[in-house]
Amino acid sequence: MNDPNCIFCNIAKGLIPAKKLHDDEDLMAFHDIRPQAPVHFLLVPKAHIVSLYEATAEHQAVFGKMLTMTGRLAREAGASDGFRTIINNGRVGHQEVYHVHMHVLGGPEPLGPMLLRK
Ligand code: 5GP
Ligand code: ZN
Repeated sequence: MNDPNCIFCNIAKGLIPAKKLHDDEDLMAFHDIRPQAPVHFLLVPKAHIVSLYEATAEHQAVFGKMLTMTGRLAREAGASDGFRTIINNGRVGHQEVYHVHMHVLGGPEPLGPMLLRK
């Protein structure tokens, strides 16, 4: 259920501080420590699911709950005119923290193209 060496499991346990926007038995949301946009928070299942590669049918409810609360949290954080969600997975996805999480990024200004073209 949790990994003692995982940063996000330790945030879930309250061992590492975070600026939380939401906290319940299944999910937490907190501001990213290195924001890349005026609004930048992470929405994180409490269970230690490494990435979407490890997601199974038993996680359907938590991922459904995560997506259906995103708009409200984004609005409450100040992104009322649009936002972007990103889930990085594995090496190619440039995942840095191996506990699945969804980035929520917002303006006020438009964020630009989804990926930089080479
Ligand atoms: P990834 O590249 O894995 O999708 O993104 C990991 C994100 O977690 C990064 O944007 C990074 O700034 C954020 N992060 C890493 N460690 C911490 C931490 O201890 N606290 C918070 N609030 N964010 C963190
Ligand atoms: Zn974890």
